[in-house]
Amino acid sequence: MNDASLHSVPGSPSTGSRGSYRGRLAPSPTGLLHIGHARTFWIAAQRAIENRGTLIVRNEDLDPQRSRPEFARAMIEDLRWLGICWSEGPDCGGPYGPYAQSGRRAHYLEAWRRLRGGGFLYPCTCSRKDLALAASAPNDADNDDEPVYPGTCRERKHAAEFAEPAGVNWRFRVPEGEVVEFADLNLGRQRHVAGSDFGDFLVWRRDDVPAYQLAVVVDDAAMRITEIVRGADLLKSTARQLLLMRALGYADREHAAPDYFHCELVRDAAGARLAKRHDALSIRHLRESGLTAEKVLEMAGWP
Ligand code: GLU
Repeated sequence: MNDASLHSVPGSPSTGSRGSYRGRLAPSPTGLLHIGHARTFWIAAQRAIENRGTLIVRNEDLDPQRSRPEFARAMIEDLRWLGICWSEGPDCGGPYGPYAQSGRRAHYLEAWRRLRGGGFLYPCTCSRKDLALAASAPNDADNDDEPVYPGTCRERKHAAEFAEPAGVNWRFRVPEGEVVEFADLNLGRQRHVAGSDFGDFLVWRRDDVPAYQLAVVVDDAAMRITEIVRGADLLKSTARQLLLMRALGYADREHAAPDYFHCELVRDAAGARLAKRHDALSIRHLRESGLTAEKVLEMAGWP
């Protein structure tokens, strides 16, 4: 079922050079969690335990059109049923709340203002198709990452005329040709070239919804996350987010950029990546069909 054998969590525990370990699970309530999530989230939970750290759950209900409260409830229940424990989250609160993105708009707006003021953004009036892509995390492992933006609106200079982001799409101008590198704790050194591996990406949608890339960077910094465990489908997004962090001045902070641990993806027998649309492989469905949490984790590649 899975494309990698997983018998222990590779990578040595992160040392506490930046303070104690803080990891997060950041599911979007746009469908039921599936065994791909079980794998990534279980690894995240184990890494938090190994590092004697704190685990946080963040409800990424950013997109009001796609997020549903019943999925948010289901994801909390399914994570608990799997045996994952966290100490900060939408269900239990904590010092860096709220832990649902729908309640964090003021933080995103402040970041948008900072980026716009620093000359990093431009308003874009291109295609509506981009809108749908922007609020969800792009998944590039199967080449369905967003296409590189051709730069049509790049030279627009009237960003300062906007007091609020609504009404137009906002893009981050990537430093053309810059190599973004990071050492992934699981997959090793990663290298992406801005402008060719990915282009100017959306940070705020015309319909006034902040984009995934912006929200996640703002929240990870605000919640003092020291290590991000996520699927390998988000490697390019990590490169984008490193650029955003630098532009926002987060890289200068004591907490600096987090460490990254990208997990191999779970694939079906035909080699296709699992997505939420595979309802039969949802944790919920497997549980209702009588499987134990151990069995579900085994299907997800856990020993
Ligand atoms: N909400 C995003 C997703 O479900 C989170 C990805 C991440 O930043 O880890 O894909």
